[in-house]
Amino acid sequence: MSFASLGLAPALLDAVAAIGHDTPTAIQSAAIPAALQGRDVLGAAQTGSGKTAAFALPMLHALLARQGTRRGLHGLVLVPTRELAAQVGDAIRALVQHLPSTIKVSIAFGGVSINPQMMALRGGTDIIVATPGRLLDLARHNAVKLDGVATLVLDEADKLLDMGFADEIAEILALLPARRQNLFFSATFPAAVQALATSLLHDPVRAQL
Ligand code: AMP
Repeated sequence: MSFASLGLAPALLDAVAAIGHDTPTAIQSAAIPAALQGRDVLGAAQTGSGKTAAFALPMLHALLARQGTRRGLHGLVLVPTRELAAQVGDAIRALVQHLPSTIKVSIAFGGVSINPQMMALRGGTDIIVATPGRLLDLARHNAVKLDGVATLVLDEADKLLDMGFADEIAEILALLPARRQNLFFSATFPAAVQALATSLLHDPVRAQL
């Protein structure tokens, strides 16, 4: 399997090569073609599996296709921790650096002042990687508009629930358009994670290691 066979835009193949990835990982081979078709994805994946690119590349593909037309937040990535927000945001930015288009990737997490994050969101953003509580705060301050989100990613869903974010996630879901793509990644699938996946996903493609 090669990245070229997954259906990604040529600019993304160049970006993937530029950051040094030769061959897609198992989760990427399974998730990317499905996500490019607009399908929901249920991914069983741990850190180190390449799951970040598995959800980032399809979002970037869609953003490249819509360049110059509609603006507004396209991709919302919910993560459980500040560290993961930074790590995922940096990984997406590393790809964007090699693209010919300007795609803005924002990172937001709690435990620090909200004002710089609000300032950074002025003028809009294409993708936001955020912890749930801070994302809700930003939405309440009208710093981010969620009603145009095309793709929702839950990254490390088991950890999101372990950290007690179930209520925040429910509140966020209520602010999102009903018609959207959902990409769901978790390392483990206890009952609560399974229930969230079932309530969120429509006829998902299962992508496993
Ligand atoms: P992740 O599971 O997304 O946190 O990725 C784990 C590590 O694997 C990161 O350092 C990525 O840069 C790297 N990685 C992701 N996809 C690939 C790939 N297809 N080939 C080689 N390395 C990759």
